[in-house]
Amino acid sequence: MNPIDVQCDEFLRLAERVTRIAADYLVDLDARPILREVTGEDLERIFRTPLPETGLAEEAVDGLADVVRHSRVQNGRFFGYVLGSGEPAAAVADLLSSVLNQIATAWRSSPVAVTLERAVVGWLAQAIGYRDSVGVLTGGGSAANLMALAIAREKAVAANESGLRARGPLAVYASTEAHMSIAKAVALLGIGRENLRLIPVDDAFHIIPERLEKAIQHDKDLGITPAAAIASAGTVNTGAIDALPQIAAIARKYGVWFHIDGAYGALAAVAAPEKFRGLEQADSISLDPHKWLYQPLDCGCLLYRDAAMARRTLAHSGDYARSLSSDPIEGLALFEESIELSRRFRALKLWFSLRYHGLAAFRKSIEKDLRQARQLGALIANKSDLELLAPIELSAVCFRYVGKNSLPEDKISQLNLNILQRVIARGRVYLSNATLNSKFCLRACIVNHHTTEADIDTVPVEVLAAAREVLA
Ligand SMILES: *Cc1c(COP(=O)(O)O)cnc(C)c1O
Repeated sequence: MNPIDVQCDEFLRLAERVTRIAADYLVDLDARPILREVTGEDLERIFRTPLPETGLAEEAVDGLADVVRHSRVQNGRFFGYVLGSGEPAAAVADLLSSVLNQIATAWRSSPVAVTLERAVVGWLAQAIGYRDSVGVLTGGGSAANLMALAIAREKAVAANESGLRARGPLAVYASTEAHMSIAKAVALLGIGRENLRLIPVDDAFHIIPERLEKAIQHDKDLGITPAAAIASAGTVNTGAIDALPQIAAIARKYGVWFHIDGAYGALAAVAAPEKFRGLEQADSISLDPHKWLYQPLDCGCLLYRDAAMARRTLAHSGDYARSLSSDPIEGLALFEESIELSRRFRALKLWFSLRYHGLAAFRKSIEKDLRQARQLGALIANKSDLELLAPIELSAVCFRYVGKNSLPEDKISQLNLNILQRVIARGRVYLSNATLNSKFCLRACIVNHHTTEADIDTVPVEVLAAAREVLA
């Protein structure tokens, strides 16, 4: 027997123990402090132990319980970043994904995995109302944005063969509120961050379409090729949804690829399609089921209409990977439409989760998140020592403590930073932060199926309690 063989009864016993550990975590999620008081040094001591030469067997299982004990807890009062709450039925299916160990490169290598990926990608497109599109699952919105901009770049100047140098300068357009993954993609693609035009936004953090058009026009006059216009739906800070129909019209007028970064918000179109009018005109859309479909990390997606262009950009087949089939189904090679070759079977958890709960359950949960964001906004608006700093379009709520007497701006920002640290240390509510118009703000983002109305009520209570502690 191979030393790493695990017999069937041993597998079952291990799986039961791990499932028990997971269930114990879930059962008292609500009562756990979100962050334990633990230092970096503590964690180094517990986990940076020597590589064992001999297997630890049972002790290794105890180590998993240690991981749970010290992990950040994602209960209904976790509102940091844009982080979906992790749907447990999907997590169970994810175990099966690892056991089956399918390589989702091509139909030839994993027929079911590739078929299911096509199926769930089609479901996602249908759910958000983006007809006649195809696409692939990705590790997240960052990878999806990178791939979208790679396709846009290739469409604009065909640089894959001869490089960008031979093709002259390119420019990409997004608002000042665009996610950092856009700037990263522009850098990685050799377009250069200097050529990312950060277009100003209005008071509600939407890109100003006239400024976008002016910038494109200006570049054209200078002989710079506009490669992509990017709309946010919504922005990572405040959830602002750019004017999609107007941006689509400008992109069409100048023959520029129109990409929507919907990593945070696009899936809210399942519950509130009226907010996303114009989405159907995009050339490509990034979305993140690991955000607003509550899927366990990781699960991102890129959708697009021009599959031939995607393939022209991303196909570099070596002979060994050739699909050996010209059949439109059986010849499908996802590695020709993705930056990844070996890919895990991400589709399984999503397929199972959507079939298990049904789309209506997700729609209700997203509606709940949207409603709770408005609830939190109303609570903040009713408190004279709190100030709302942005309109609530989706589920991100940006606000700050201002107190009773008018403090200078820099004092308010410092005070709110201290309040955020206190809120987190108190362990009841987890918020993150954003900076809007140079104002530091507290930010609650609700993409959390656990969150109840009572959890929302806790937010201002905790912030005010933290403010009292900081000011004492
Ligand atoms: C989260 C996010 C991204 C990046 O997605 P990842 O899944 O974290 O890689 C991109 N854009 C927006 C607007 C986001 O909210």
